[in-house]
Amino acid sequence: MTETVTNWARNITFSAGELHRPRSLDALRSLVAGSGRVRVLGSGHSFNEIAEPGDGGVLLSLSDLKDTAGEVEVDTAARTVRVGGGVRYAELARRVHEHGLALPNMASLPHISVAGSVATGTHGSGVGNGPLAAAVREVEIVTADGSTVVIGRGDRRFGGAVTSLGALGVVTALVLDLEPGYEVEQYVFTELPLDGLDFEAVAGAAYSVSLFTDWGAPGFRQVWLKRRTDEPVVDFPFAAPAVEALHPVPGMPAVNCTEQLGVSGPWHERLPHFRAEFTPSSGDELQSEYLLPRGHAVEALHAIDEIRETVAPVLQICEVRTVAADEQWLSPSYGRDTVAVHFTWIEDTAAVLPVVRAVEAALEPFGPRPHWGKVFEVPAAVVRGRYPRIGDFTALARVLDPAGKFTNAFVRDVLEG
Ligand SMILES: Cc1cc2nc3c(=O)[nH]c(=O)nc-3n(C[C@H](O)[C@H](O)[C@H](O)COP(=O)(O)OP(=O)(O)OC[C@H]3O[C@@H](n4cnc5c(N)ncnc54)[C@H](O)[C@@H]3O)c2cc1C
Repeated sequence: MTETVTNWARNITFSAGELHRPRSLDALRSLVAGSGRVRVLGSGHSFNEIAEPGDGGVLLSLSDLKDTAGEVEVDTAARTVRVGGGVRYAELARRVHEHGLALPNMASLPHISVAGSVATGTHGSGVGNGPLAAAVREVEIVTADGSTVVIGRGDRRFGGAVTSLGALGVVTALVLDLEPGYEVEQYVFTELPLDGLDFEAVAGAAYSVSLFTDWGAPGFRQVWLKRRTDEPVVDFPFAAPAVEALHPVPGMPAVNCTEQLGVSGPWHERLPHFRAEFTPSSGDELQSEYLLPRGHAVEALHAIDEIRETVAPVLQICEVRTVAADEQWLSPSYGRDTVAVHFTWIEDTAAVLPVVRAVEAALEPFGPRPHWGKVFEVPAAVVRGRYPRIGDFTALARVLDPAGKFTNAFVRDVLEG
């Protein structure tokens, strides 16, 4: 049966007329082995053609896979969890929390799949927190001939195996490190000036910190501090505390957001900005994000401030976060402590793209790496040049997928030009 398969934002319609949903691992293996080109669709939250299989290619979902894809198996003694390739963070977090354990961090929403998130370098915030992929210790991949390869930390291929853009095969399971459960209090502050901003002090004031602005005026409309209750209280003299719960996007209801005003709660109900049971963010939107060395944060923010009259008319909200350096070769925070400057745009592609290019020109001096799952216009050759280990990744892809079954135009452009 022909269906229209789109991403979450509905700005991409995939060329595959059908989404294949194998019900068993054996069916998945046969489908992969018997197909010429294959891409997996996770929860479809990317805003570009990263998951597009190309004409004649097979688009695959693990959502109906019974044997492994839905599994969440917590090992309390080892403090690890084995999670199937179709599981989303909301379900993973709920199950991990039931065992008194926790993940180190989460993205702004829990609705996204674990495998798809770590494949694109998805991150939350925190000067000491790597991207979500940093918690992964092992990956199971069904490769081109239908056989399974397991790659764990310590394996020399591991640096390419997690943030892989879906280019190595179908990730059917991952093993993640856990830590003892912890509680978080969320505080929102309002109106933080850009002039005189001590970015290191602000970004380091809590376990996870986000700055929000609509660029309608200089500076930041909101600062969100997520403080672990097992860490010391740090003063925040830079802005005034909010007196009511706020949504980061002006005009949107705060009821969609995780609890604020310092009410302590479990890690998974505070680290995401949006509640699992509500529409995250605004819903009608496009997104872009650029990750650059944290030492350039203030200069980069001033560069955006200089073009804020161009940016503001098509912007819903801009969020600034930090990510600690990690070791995945294709991670946008690979090898450098990072500031991530994110833009939630209105959903009008034609109006947004010229502004995306203006933002990219403004950030160019700081060598930004675009988020793999969001809208960007930086030429593939430039992106390639920003990843010192990209040659190692390409070599690994050639070994695991010699015929290029799991590549698509997006991946080919980036890896080979
Ligand atoms: C409202 C919203 C909020 C967001 N917030 C954040 C945020 O806070 N931080 C952030 O960094 N990003 C954020 N993102 C971006 C999002 O995290 C990424 O796009 C991420 O890839 C989404 O995961 P997914 O499962 O939907 O991936 P998809 O878009 O479905 O796929 C992404 C890639 O992963 C591959 N893939 C997926 N599953 C598998 C698998 N099992 N095996 C092999 N390859 C696979 C796909 O082929 C594709 O290449 C947000 C997006 C939205 C829509």
